[in-house]
Amino acid sequence: MRLIFLGPPGAGKGTQAKAISKKFKVVHISTGDILREAVKNKSEIGKQAKAFMDKGDLVPDELVIKVVVERLARPDTAEGFILDGFPRTEKQATSLDSELEKAGLTVDSVIYFDTSEETSVKRLSGRRVCKNCGANYHTITMRPKKDRVCDICAGELYQREDDKEVTVKNRLKVYQQQTAGLIDYYKSRGSLKTVCGDLNVDGLLNKMVEFFKEQSFIR
Ligand code: AMP
Repeated sequence: MRLIFLGPPGAGKGTQAKAISKKFKVVHISTGDILREAVKNKSEIGKQAKAFMDKGDLVPDELVIKVVVERLARPDTAEGFILDGFPRTEKQATSLDSELEKAGLTVDSVIYFDTSEETSVKRLSGRRVCKNCGANYHTITMRPKKDRVCDICAGELYQREDDKEVTVKNRLKVYQQQTAGLIDYYKSRGSLKTVCGDLNVDGLLNKMVEFFKEQSFIR
């Protein structure tokens, strides 16, 4: 299955993508994760992306498209992939279309996580991430067993710089201005499936698995 997860920051795309990827052994490609790793490693891409990410702005299209094209060329994507957080602009969407077309492929479905601003803000402001393994927690809904310590690897939990209040507001504004238009872009192609991003993790996962079965993406 080849899927795109579309929706505002804090819609739960990453959490669902991780769960689906594990359950159905399909590669999860998060441009946010790839870029954060690049920043951490101080690579050339990371150096160029950092200032945009810190402010909650989009990293320039050319850079992100290059990252995704390189990632999709790796053999582990042959059985399918979930693109989480990409595309985010029309330019990225058309570039993805033409890249896939070259390989004779299309996207099976675009899952749109329709999410209220209230939910997005609550999820982002309470999110805590493990510095070591990247696992996600939440100060209210998904607390670690020991305060600020990762259950999985005992790494230290921290709040992402761009999950702080001012940056969250900008990210939501940027989403409305530059990404929300993709809902109509994919709707007009008949590939959009809307799910309610306000549901809890298990509720949303069940809905998606039901849909994948209906579509015969899985058996
Ligand atoms: P995310 O983890 O998906 O919320 O992404 C974190 C940050 O990475 C975003 O606020 C952007 O600065 C950058 N980013 C991730 N994906 C993209 C993309 N497709 N286009 C531009 N910037 C991106």
